[in-house]
Amino acid sequence: MYSRPVSVAWPLGVVSFTFDDFPKSALVTGGSILERYGVRGTYYTSLKLARTETVVGPMFDLDDVRDAHDAGHEIACHTYTHLNC
Ligand SMILES: [Zn+2]
Repeated sequence: MYSRPVSVAWPLGVVSFTFDDFPKSALVTGGSILERYGVRGTYYTSLKLARTETVVGPMFDLDDVRDAHDAGHEIACHTYTHLNC
């Protein structure tokens, strides 16, 4: 395994915009706001939730994942089944 140390310093701090589970509105509304200001977010994706409806509304579909990636957002794995702990 290769590793390369990286020096990281953000003297003014850093803000991370993340979306858990990823309802469709997180990309359509939230993503467009982030993009308008030149920043990107992280979408925690649980693939079993794709194309489902939850209490927060319609969830993402695979086109949304592709669109988010193409727009420069980060796609993160939030397990496949989203086990309720
Ligand atoms: Zn979650």
